[in-house]
Parts: sequence; structure tokens; C-alpha cells
Amino acid sequence: MACSKHYTKWFEEKDNRNWLKVSVGLIITKRGLAPFVENTLDTWKNVQVAPGTNCSACSTAELVPCDHRNKICKGKHCKFHQGVTYRPCPNKICDAFRQEIITQHRFKGPSWRNTNARDWCSNTWEVAKAFLPPDGYDKITTSDDTDLNGVVSVLINCLLFEQYIPDLAIDGNNVGTKVRDIGRKLRHASKLEVTDADLKQWFDDMRALFLVPKHLAANTNAQNTVDLLNKLETDNLQIERTDIMAAINDVVTSLEHLSSTIDPEALNDTIDKLHEIKQEIEKEAEEHRRTIDVLANEKKTELKQLAIDLTDDIEKKSQNDQHRQTKFEEDILREVKPCKEVNEVFETIKAKSGPIISMFQDLFSRTLTTHVGNQFKHTIYAMIDFELVVVDNIIKDVEASARSIDGGFEYSTKVSSRYSQAGFKEIAPERNAREPFRYSSSVAKPVFIWIYFVDQNNKYYWLCKGLKRIPDQSVFVDRDGKVNDAKYGTLFTPAN
Ligand SMILES: [Zn+2]
Ligand SMILES: [Zn+2]
Repeated sequence: MACSKHYTKWFEEKDNRNWLKVSVGLIITKRGLAPFVENTLDTWKNVQVAPGTNCSACSTAELVPCDHRNKICKGKHCKFHQGVTYRPCPNKICDAFRQEIITQHRFKGPSWRNTNARDWCSNTWEVAKAFLPPDGYDKITTSDDTDLNGVVSVLINCLLFEQYIPDLAIDGNNVGTKVRDIGRKLRHASKLEVTDADLKQWFDDMRALFLVPKHLAANTNAQNTVDLLNKLETDNLQIERTDIMAAINDVVTSLEHLSSTIDPEALNDTIDKLHEIKQEIEKEAEEHRRTIDVLANEKKTELKQLAIDLTDDIEKKSQNDQHRQTKFEEDILREVKPCKEVNEVFETIKAKSGPIISMFQDLFSRTLTTHVGNQFKHTIYAMIDFELVVVDNIIKDVEASARSIDGGFEYSTKVSSRYSQAGFKEIAPERNAREPFRYSSSVAKPVFIWIYFVDQNNKYYWLCKGLKRIPDQSVFVDRDGKVNDAKYGTLFTPAN
């Protein structure tokens, strides 16, 4: 099917735009829900499996007795138990845990096929998978990878959530099932269109899930999610390109799995249309990236020249006065910081694409490490290293699903072990004072500084990647992620 319209034009059609808004609304809903679901299960899991104890010896088939009443074992030669028979957990942990999972399952039929009992003690989401729909979720390992349908299913199927959302006790028609059904209806619609009436009802349904008083109180993301949904519904939220892509990918995947319940021709048309939109977006993103690259390089050259000119000035004016020179350089940095042009470019880029901030940080480190909106709400992490460890690869593309571990750190499940090896420390919002990193005065090498923050959607952004610093035995990082002058007043070495 041919379409000459640009995708933005297509989304200007009201019903198409409504479709997009609901799709993105479901993504926002999922993000508002997943950390709460995971944290709640985590707390419960730690009661079942005392911290420090551990078993990874039991496969699910070894742990679940072969019994046709468990919704998975069928016939005389049960497929699930092929060659495996039940035996008690050698560490005396998993049997009680299995029973507790059954007890907490609203319909007493955990999805044993989804979940791998060997990982129960080490990964809470593996336990959550017992509460997911029976098919299609066996490969996922984190809440990030789980779609809204899956996350809401945990709410609906696991009795633990009734204490926060009492409405879940109403069988078949409650705040949870209503949100789950939006996704189903959206996917089964033969066109990518949503009427105004449906839009209004579905946004009401999404908000209702968070506006249950006890849920609102217990889920730290709830209010923010409601605010985002309000903005989205009233066209006051800039929809990110990545969210459009996520919405489309989500729908394409589920449409491709749909059975013949839909007219195949209409279905193919829909999928074609979405692929087409995706390609356009990818093309546009590539062009956008190129424009930004060109812009950044131009600015870099300009600023370097400016720095050279100013340095010449310093040398002429105060060659003999080391102290004054340092002072002078500080003044220059201060002068450059509010440079209108730089800020304009920066603001434009920031408005268009948040993560691209990081691209600018090697131009003017001191200036750019301070751009954290609402900084005290964010969790800021920092570390220094002496070898320029490539930390970027470690945390790349990770959406930090923050949760507590011993010692009060927060971390992302995807990077937990390597992350702690990397030695990041939380700077804010938990800590009040400026945080010094001190190291031995015998260190003569440059120090590299890494700082990132986690925003309210649990996304991380680099503020400072491998920023180089002349040795000064201490580095201070402020609550806003700003790297401050250390005791002796050092300067950043320019990038490149
Ligand atoms: Zn069996
Ligand atoms: Zn075991």
C-alpha cells in the first residue's frame, strides 16, 4: 500500500493521533507500574527467602509435582515432566516458596512454564513470571522487557496487590482488568484509529488505576504517571520519537502474533502502514543526528578558537602570576558559561532531544555538568577512575529500574554486578553534603570522572563521561551533579 504522506501529517488526523496518544499512554502506564510491582514482590520475596540464603539447584519441573490439576501437566506422559520427577529442595527453601506462590495466586494456577525456579532466589522478576499470562513470557528476565499486559497481569493475578488496590478483588471487571483491556481493544481495532469517546474513557481508566488512595500513597511513581497522562491527553506532552517507535513496535509484534480473528488483508495493511511509519521515523532520526553532529562540530571549533584567544590574553597579561592566572581562567570559564550562543544551541538541542546533552559535555565540562532540571528529585551517581574504564558500554541502553539493596544504594538489575565493580556512588538525593572523592597524593595520573542521573522515569542520562581532570587528590561532586573545583583549584583539560 502506498502512502505519500509524511508520518507527522498522518498523526495530525485526529483519530490517528488519538490512537498514538493511547498507545503512548499505555507505555507511560507500564513505566509507572513496573517498579512498584517489582518492589512489592521483592519485599515479599525477601520474607520467603531470607537474605543471604540461596538455592539455584531446583528446576521448575523438579519442584512442581506432576499433577493434572496444576494446569500444565497433561496426559499419562506429561510433556512438562519429561524425564524429570519431583524431589524436595535440597536446601529446604524452594518447596515453601512454591507453596507461597500458589497461595498468592488469585486463581491458584501459577504459570510454571514461564518461570525458571533456579533463578527465584536471585531475580525477583523470575518469580513475577509465575503471575504472568501462561504463554509468551518465558524468555524475558526483567520488568523492562515485559509489556503492559504482562505487568498488569501480575497486579491482577497476585493477591499481594489487593492491599493497595482493593478493587482488584472484583472478579473480571476492575481497575486492573480495564487497563489490560485497553491494550487488547487497541490491538484488535482493524484501523489505527481511536474515537474521542474511547480516548476519554481509556485515559480515565488508566488514571483510575493510579488514583486508588492506597496505591497513590505506596507507589512513588503514581502521581507523576497521572500528571504525564493528563498532559498527554490534553496535548501538553511532547511525544518523543522513541516513544512513538516503542508504541509501534509493541503493536506490530502483537499484531503479527494475532490469529485469524482479524481480516488478514486489513491486518497486513495495518502492519505495512506501521512499518512505513517506522522507516520514516528512522530516516528522520538519522537526519536529525547528522544535523546535530554538524552543529556540534561547528560550535566546537568556534569555542576552541575562543579558548585559544583568551588563553593568549592571559599569557600576555599575567605571565608571572600563577595565582592570578588560575583566577583569570576561572573568570573566563564563568564568562563562557552564559555565552548566549552556546546556550541557545544547547537549549535547542535539549528541547529536541534530552540524551543528546551528553554530546556537548566534552565541549565545556563545567558548564554542562550543571544542566539537571529538578535535580533534587533525581538520583545522581558519580565515580572517578584512574584508567578510563569504558563504563559507557556497561550501562549503555540500560533503563535503570532502581530498587534498594543492602547499604542503601540503588542500582539497575541489568548491570548490578559490573555496576558495583565500576564503583559508582550515589550523590543525591539521599546525601546532603557535597561528596568528596579523595585519593592518594602519590597518584600522578589524570583522574577520569563519570556522572549520570536517573530521572523520574527511571531512565539514565550521562552528565559526564570520562571527563579528564588534572590530579588534585580530591574531587568534589555536588548534589546537582556539578563537578567543583577541588582544594587547589584545578582546571579541566579540554577534550581531544
Ligand atoms: Zn507433569
Ligand atoms: Zn531449591
